[in-house]
Amino acid sequence: MQQVYDAVIVGGGPAGVSCAVWLARLGLSPLLVEAAARLGGLTATHPFADDWLAALPGATGQQIAANLTQSAQAAGVPVSLRSPVAQVRVEENLYVVEPVAPGKAVRGHALVIASGVLARNLAGYARRARWPGVLVGPGSAIVAQDYTGLSVAVLGGGDNAFENFVYVRGRGAKSVHLYSRTVRAQSQWVARAGDAGVHRGAYDVDPAARTVNDRPYDLILVFYGWEPQAAFADGLNLARDERGYIRTDTATAQASLRGVYAIGEVANRMHPCVVTAMADGVVAAKAIQRCREQQA
Ligand SMILES: Cc1cc2nc3c(=O)[nH]c(=O)nc-3n(C[C@H](O)[C@H](O)[C@H](O)COP(=O)(O)OP(=O)(O)OC[C@H]3O[C@@H](n4cnc5c(N)ncnc54)[C@H](O)[C@@H]3O)c2cc1C
Repeated sequence: MQQVYDAVIVGGGPAGVSCAVWLARLGLSPLLVEAAARLGGLTATHPFADDWLAALPGATGQQIAANLTQSAQAAGVPVSLRSPVAQVRVEENLYVVEPVAPGKAVRGHALVIASGVLARNLAGYARRARWPGVLVGPGSAIVAQDYTGLSVAVLGGGDNAFENFVYVRGRGAKSVHLYSRTVRAQSQWVARAGDAGVHRGAYDVDPAARTVNDRPYDLILVFYGWEPQAAFADGLNLARDERGYIRTDTATAQASLRGVYAIGEVANRMHPCVVTAMADGVVAAKAIQRCREQQA
């Protein structure tokens, strides 16, 4: 007879790992299912020191990802890596999550959606469409790029666009221009960017020709923000906000369907960062524990 887990958690970033570790330490049986070959989620993609995490001064995103893996192992959390979840359905009051391995579904009394966000692509193109010389950021691909002698266009109006405009300017590029339809970045980034090379207002991008306003570039960097990724749960018809983030109850992280929880960036409940994602995992774990005790 196949095991029924107390909770199947989809997504092994800070939110999902935190929830799984707490559930395991509370004596419940979680299963952590992750699409990638490693845990850590977005933290694994940033090599910079994280200056916002008060408990781990100086740790890089990649060190945080390694710590998350270590914590999951120490708590004895079973983890299924390289397991992109395609869909979830309800069967006899259980959540059936499939496929975790080809042809193999798993079942849980609770479902925790911790699948985070995906960097938004150029408007009008498929989510994962890519072109040579066009990088959709932020993350390790932006950092790994050699900018020496290149003409670079940075697109976007948020913190990441302004921060990376400043970053690329300091990396030996021949020229760097920032195109921003609407400036949403915090004032300290706008001030650091200054006015030189900053274009505000409408612009046209042709990613195949690699031009912005008909001007050719060696490289175009896209920072259009994020969108939630939880298409596998569409069949559950959960309540979402106008941008597609899953709506949850702040006290429990429960979504609009009993037994389904959404945590971290996919729920966008609090200012998104490692700490709030992990806190969300704890809130869901405690709510699941209460629920399982009531059912016992
Ligand atoms: C460049 C960069 C720098 C950052 N710097 C900081 C910083 O300094 N400090 C800070 O606090 N935060 C920082 N952040 C933000 C922080 O990384 C995120 O807020 C945090 O990782 C969100 O955690 P999460 O668990 O909600 O989602 P994620 O980290 O996105 O994890 C979601 C996981 O779900 C998996 N997944 C998605 N779909 C499926 C599926 N269908 N099946 C199975 N698995 C799936 C993904 O592969 C991923 O591993 C940074 C982010 C980036 C990109």
